[in-house]
Amino acid sequence: MPTPRLAALTESWFQKHKRPLPWREGYEPYRVWVSEVMLQQTRMEVVLGYYERFLRRFPTVGDLARASLDDVTAAWSGLGYYRRARMLREGAIDVMERFGGVIPESVDDLMSIAGIGRYTAGAIASIAYGQRAPIVDGNIARIVARLFAIEAPLSSPALMRSAWAHAEELIASSKSPRDLNQGLMELGALVCTPRNPNCRVCPLRRGCAAFSAGRVDEFPRPKARVATREMHIPLYLVVDRDGRVLMRRESGQLMRGMFHLPHGDTTLLTGAPLRVGVAETLGTFRHTVTNRRITFEVFAVTRRLRTRGREYAWIDPKLLSAIPHPSYVRKALQLAGIGQ
Ligand code: SF4
Repeated sequence: MPTPRLAALTESWFQKHKRPLPWREGYEPYRVWVSEVMLQQTRMEVVLGYYERFLRRFPTVGDLARASLDDVTAAWSGLGYYRRARMLREGAIDVMERFGGVIPESVDDLMSIAGIGRYTAGAIASIAYGQRAPIVDGNIARIVARLFAIEAPLSSPALMRSAWAHAEELIASSKSPRDLNQGLMELGALVCTPRNPNCRVCPLRRGCAAFSAGRVDEFPRPKARVATREMHIPLYLVVDRDGRVLMRRESGQLMRGMFHLPHGDTTLLTGAPLRVGVAETLGTFRHTVTNRRITFEVFAVTRRLRTRGREYAWIDPKLLSAIPHPSYVRKALQLAGIGQ
């Protein structure tokens, strides 16, 4: 099937089947940007619970640029992958300083902004401004792999190169770049899903090489498995007379600025392990982060501790939601019967 026909079918399908999502009201560039960053690595249902709250807190790019890093990461708590919040704020500062507070339209200008890569630049340019900018994310790479029966494995550089080339051809022949790119993303989310794609209702099935060959299950080719790492992290729960919990601020790259519970020996969290004498086991819980399967073992530390260093702070557990913290902290407090 010719590329212009594939593009036209995708656009008209999107017009009929698009979900009413908050960032699709008016396609305001800042709102589109925030949605795209949140949707990277976080499921749509989770994002919907945070999106409007985040925008009420930081309604404009200027509000986000002026906010402290603590406020932004606290508002991000629960969405995970906190580097995104830090980069979004840095990007907002960049927009204020170099573009007078106006998010630029061109992919090149967008890609010059801190934290904006090729995908996000293409998404803002096409969805907010209607520019002919291609985008490829995991959903679109999967659709393209099936449409053109591409043999390169999932996430491989060869598949991504091919997907970008096809995305460029599609956008070049589109009538509405906004509808085309969102249509491809929406098809990936609702129809051409990773498992059991619903080819029966797919507008592209007549042009789909995998469907025509009866080989839908074979594409995209699986990627080589990444081994999961089992890890064990001892956590120390130290509570003072007022019920406040001792917490430590992470300075490493992975979760910089986040408040953690003090830990024992581990290679995952930075900072010196806390040396404790008497500790009573409260229990364990499991937590998965990408390919790490972590068993946290929580200990109550009953003896008074001398903690030096500015990275330590006493935190009232009732105020936990006001400070940036990874989700395992809440799990640990719940295990100990502390907090909501
Ligand atoms: S026909 Fe099936 S495999 Fe092909 S693009 Fe549509 S949903 Fe995906």
